[in-house]
Amino acid sequence: MNILEILNSRGLHLRQNGNGFAGPCPFCGGEDRFVCWPDQGRGGKWFCRRCESETPGRSGRSGDAIDLLRELDGLSYQEACNQLDSTFSASTPPPGLSHGRKNDVNQAVWRGRAKALVESAHSELLRDTDTQNWLLQEKFLDDSSIKRNMLGVITTGSSQPRSEWGLPDMAVKTDSSGFLPAW
Ligand SMILES: [Zn+2]
Repeated sequence: MNILEILNSRGLHLRQNGNGFAGPCPFCGGEDRFVCWPDQGRGGKWFCRRCESETPGRSGRSGDAIDLLRELDGLSYQEACNQLDSTFSASTPPPGLSHGRKNDVNQAVWRGRAKALVESAHSELLRDTDTQNWLLQEKFLDDSSIKRNMLGVITTGSSQPRSEWGLPDMAVKTDSSGFLPAW
């Protein structure tokens, strides 16, 4: 995520201006007083001509994408870094699968397989009245909870090559003792 995207997601649209972009300032408004260069530094650099400076005697306020997120949302430095990085999740492995290098995980394949597994397990549970009754009596999970949360049951174990899941080579196993994909 860069400064342009941060502002776009808040309804502020900047237009190209020279080698940068200009538009309303998220802090003090206006039309074109806020300028930014999204390709510079970490997530871009910005400058507002009108915002009051923290340095007396100088006008303007500036920073990078981290500073912008911190000031817009009152975040700590670390929180702002996390927020900036979290938007790169398309190339980040799912939690719990952080072994293996990031680029080794094929997100589309992984998500597709996990989704298919969740859906087939859910369908299986919907057909399995014994398990549904057990969930209701032992876990107080009724029909609407099962559907709302896409709960499922896997009764047949199967071991599948990780490559089929878009994951780097290493054994992955699904079995009836429980396997919870998350995405
Ligand atoms: Zn401003």
